[in-house]
Amino acid sequence: MSKPVGLLTLQGDYDKHRRAFRALGRETFDVRRPGELAEVSCLVIPGGESTTLTRLVDRAGLREPVCEFAAHHPVMGTCAGLIMVATALTGEKRPDYGVEPLGLLDCTVIRNGYGRQIDSFTAPVSLDRLDGSPDPFPAVFIRAPRITSVGPDVEVLASYRDEPVIIRQGHLLGMAFHPELTEDFRIHRYFLEMLPD
Ligand code: GLN
Repeated sequence: MSKPVGLLTLQGDYDKHRRAFRALGRETFDVRRPGELAEVSCLVIPGGESTTLTRLVDRAGLREPVCEFAAHHPVMGTCAGLIMVATALTGEKRPDYGVEPLGLLDCTVIRNGYGRQIDSFTAPVSLDRLDGSPDPFPAVFIRAPRITSVGPDVEVLASYRDEPVIIRQGHLLGMAFHPELTEDFRIHRYFLEMLPD
């Protein structure tokens, strides 16, 4: 039996991810301390607030351990989690916001690139390149990061208005929206399929 799915439960929308994995028959395990990474098979960095996440990751001493973990295990970053796994940020009006990405998934993002809270929206996104499904996914964008460029080893799995919104580099998966806020768990299932048998 493989280890449970790790959820970085420092801040953000991790409970809804738990619900999604449970619906798929997988247990989760909360990761708040470096030693807890040894208990999990993969890690989800949820949406929330990347400024707070940065502070809490560093306070918990998780920066190096998460980077080492990500070298050999699947990691999924959603919304603020995507900002955290990105290699670079652009368009910061105030660099002193203090967001310090982990530099794992080769992409540049702009925080709040789709507008403010009031501009939040749900849009149909094709998962055709993910699982060949013809049914669009109801993607919820909440102060979402915009992916402005991706590195040569990054696969664009889904786009919205011709811009990448789901990207993959090896066993690292990132998306600009919140996949956990619907009853459609295809993205969580896809992430589980990235786990070695
Ligand atoms: N705008 C937030 C940030 O910069 C992300 C929002 C979210 O995760 N829904 O961290």
